Amino acid sequence: MSDLLKGKRGLIMGVANDHSIAWGIAKTLAAHGATMAFTYQGEALGRRVKPLAESIGSSITVPCDVEDIASVDALFDTLKKEWGTLDFVVHAIGFSDKNELKGRYADTTRENFSRTMVISCFSFTEVAKRAAVMMPNGGSIITLTYGGSTRVMPNYNVMGVAKAALEASMRYLATDFGPSNIRVNALSPGPVRTLAGAGITDARLMYNYQKRNAPLRRTATIEDIGGSALYLLSDLSNAVTGEIHYIDSGYNIVSMPHPEALKQ
Ligand code: NAD
Repeated sequence: MSDLLKGKRGLIMGVANDHSIAWGIAKTLAAHGATMAFTYQGEALGRRVKPLAESIGSSITVPCDVEDIASVDALFDTLKKEWGTLDFVVHAIGFSDKNELKGRYADTTRENFSRTMVISCFSFTEVAKRAAVMMPNGGSIITLTYGGSTRVMPNYNVMGVAKAALEASMRYLATDFGPSNIRVNALSPGPVRTLAGAGITDARLMYNYQKRNAPLRRTATIEDIGGSALYLLSDLSNAVTGEIHYIDSGYNIVSMPHPEALKQ
């Protein structure tokens, strides 16, 4: 489609299957010339991720569970050996116990709070730190957040708190790495039907609600998200860092349901 990412090498973390947001991003980046390495969480997901990666010409697929820091280090050892340097990273990882993605936030357990924070938030800092040392000529790093970080979404609970911390981490990392010309940003899509999305109680209801009430009267596809990722990972956004870029058909600007929706 274009040569925007020709000659650029990047790491994609968070493909589980062909509905994953990370896959929508990878497909778009491949169409614009990028070369990519993929991680997968465990062998069962690896069986899905490897053929997807191969279908867009990628030969590097590495297991990585961000709860295990040794596997994160092993991933970057592999990338250093294979490529030496890196141009971009996509971090599309999130997890919380689905039993706590319903009911009250107040009932979150200490154990799940810590686990959710480590996987969904701190892993971004650990990955960005390791990626930055492989970016001697600058680079671009993005993560995936959700509007439940700043406004209360029913059942999103501890994930909303983790996304708020992720967004703050993104801004601090953008400041740390800015002098090295490494940009750090976050994409904030509206609800997408994925494995992780399905873990949230009443996800379908939220999906349909946003579809009815967003200015564009639709939700974003993983290809829409890919287009925004292309912008943030390419030279088109060379002076953009520390930003949260919404891809939610405008839902975040709306303060009340559309009267037509209230009549339904
Ligand atoms: P998905 O289930 O396809 O992807 C989630 C990924 O996280 C999976 O690949 C899974 O393997 C990975 N993961 C979870 N725990 C991990 C661990 N310990 N180590 C390594 N990887 C781990 O779902 P998705 O919706 O594509 O999610 C991608 C990102 O987008 C997440 O951060 C999610 O919070 C965010 N997001 C999703 C939506 C939505 O509605 N689906 C909206 C906004 C933001």
